[in-house]
Amino acid sequence: MSKELKIARCVECGRIIPSDEASWRVCSMCGDSICLEHTYYMRVKRTGLYDIYYDVVRVCKKCKI
Ligand SMILES: [Zn+2]
Ligand SMILES: [Zn+2]
Repeated sequence: MSKELKIARCVECGRIIPSDEASWRVCSMCGDSICLEHTYYMRVKRTGLYDIYYDVVRVCKKCKI
């Protein structure tokens, strides 16, 4: 029986993302894995219950506007 871990790799450079970081090192638009170097930040407008506010999300290169 072999224990296989799903290895996350950056879609841009193929670098292996440590498993403890893999869960949040993803593009919030397409869900692709991205390393620290290829993480871009984008400001998105969100509509709250009473207010409109801005949030910063992690995205990959191709989802960055
Ligand atoms: Zn990368
Ligand atoms: Zn993306």
